[in-house]
Amino acid sequence: MATPRTSDLLARRYATLGQHSPLFYREPLELVSGEGVWLTDAQGRTYLDGYNNVPHVGHANPVVADAVSRQLRTLNLHTRYLNHVVVDYAEALLGTFSDRLDRLFLVNSGSEANELALRLARQHTGSTGVLVSDFSYHGNTTSLAELTTGLTVREPLGDHVRPVRIPDATGLSDAEAQQECALALAQVDDAIASLQAAGHGVSAALFDPLFSTEGLLAPPAGYVEGLAYRVRAAGGLVIADEVQSGFGRLGDSMWGHELFDLSPELVTLGKPMGNGHPVGGVVTTAELLDEFGRHNMYFNTFAGSPVSSAAGLAVLEVMANEGLMPRAHETGAFIASRLREMAAEHRLVASVRGHGLFFGLDLVHDDGAPAADATRALTEKMREKGVLISKIGRDDNVLKMRPPMVIEQNQAEILVDRLAESLAELTTIG
Ligand code: PMP
Repeated sequence: MATPRTSDLLARRYATLGQHSPLFYREPLELVSGEGVWLTDAQGRTYLDGYNNVPHVGHANPVVADAVSRQLRTLNLHTRYLNHVVVDYAEALLGTFSDRLDRLFLVNSGSEANELALRLARQHTGSTGVLVSDFSYHGNTTSLAELTTGLTVREPLGDHVRPVRIPDATGLSDAEAQQECALALAQVDDAIASLQAAGHGVSAALFDPLFSTEGLLAPPAGYVEGLAYRVRAAGGLVIADEVQSGFGRLGDSMWGHELFDLSPELVTLGKPMGNGHPVGGVVTTAELLDEFGRHNMYFNTFAGSPVSSAAGLAVLEVMANEGLMPRAHETGAFIASRLREMAAEHRLVASVRGHGLFFGLDLVHDDGAPAADATRALTEKMREKGVLISKIGRDDNVLKMRPPMVIEQNQAEILVDRLAESLAELTTIG
C-alpha cells in the first residue's frame, strides 16, 4: 500500500511534471539514497539494483563524487576556453576505440548524440534517408521522434525513415537462421530501394548493436554485417548507438559494435558515461569531424565542461582500477548460467538473451503468446523481494536485467535466487 507520503509526492509530481514520463511499478517507488548496487527507499527499505546502467560504477560512487566535487570547487565553465581536464578525457575515452575512431564530440545526452550523428551523416552523404529497426528508441528530439518505432510518440514516422525487422536466430537451426537472415536482408534491400526511389537516398543506418529496446535480439550470423554492407553500398554510413551497450558492459568488449565485423563511422554514447552526470558523446573519424567543422560551428554550453569531463574520467578510472570489464564477464557468465537453469526448469522461460552483464528472459505462454502479464507480475514480485529489474521488448515480455557494473558475486546470487523464487511462486500460483 502506498504511504500517505508517497501518495502526496505522487500527486505533487503529476501536478507539476505531468504524466508523460511513466513511473515504474504499480505503487511507485520513492528512492532516497544509493550506494554501490544498493538503493534505499523513503521507508528505509533497501533494494538490490538489478536494472540500472546509469550508475555504471555504482550508486554514489565516491571516486566519481570526489572528482566532480573537486572540479566543481576548482573550475566549471562553458566550453570556449582551453582546459586540460577536457582534453585528458577526450584522449582517455578515444583510447578505448579502434584507431580509425579518433575524434570526439561531447554532448549533453544520448538524444543529442544521435541527433548530431544523423546530422553528420546527412552532411557527409548529401542524403537524408535513414534505416532503423522496427522497434527502437534513440532519443527525444523532433527528428528522433520521427524515427522512433518502439515507444509511443505522436510524431508520424518521417517520410525519409524506413524501419526494418531485425531477425532473431534464437532457437533456430543454422539453416533456418540463414534463411531468416536472407529474408531480413532482402527487406533491407527493399527499404534502400524505396528510399532511393523517393529521392531521399541513404544517409545512415542507426541501430543499437545489442538491440536492447527490441528485447535483446540475437540476429543470425552475418545479418548486421550484411546490413552495413548494403547501407554503405548505397552511400550511407553506419551509426552504432552505444547508449545501452557501451562502456564494457558486454564484458569481453568495451563497445557493442565490436561484437560484429562492423567498424561504424559514428558511435553515440550516453547513459553510463558520467555515472549519472549528464554527458554524452559522438565518436567518429577525423575525416567526418573535420568535414563537419568546415561548414558548422558546434559547441555546447555544458557538455564537455571540466566537470563533465572529470565525471567521465573518473568512470574510466574506476573501471580500470576495479577491473570492472573482466568482472562483468565473470559475474555475467554466472548469472547467465543460473538463468539457463531457470529456462530449463520453467516452460514460461522461452529463452535467455543478452551478453556480458545485460540479460533478457523471454517469457512465453504454452500457446506461444508473449507473457507480458507474467513479466509484469515478476517485476512486481521481485520488488517485493527487494530486487529491482524491469521489462522490455516489442511484446513487453522480456525481463530486463542490467545491474551496475560493480555487482559482486554474492549480490549476483541474491539477484538470481530471488528470481528463481519469484518464477517458482508465479508458476505454482498461475
Ligand atoms: N539511445 C538509446 C539506445 C537509449 O536507450 C536512449 C535512452 N533510453 C537514448 C538513445 C536517449 O538517451 P537520452 O535519454 O540520454 O537522451
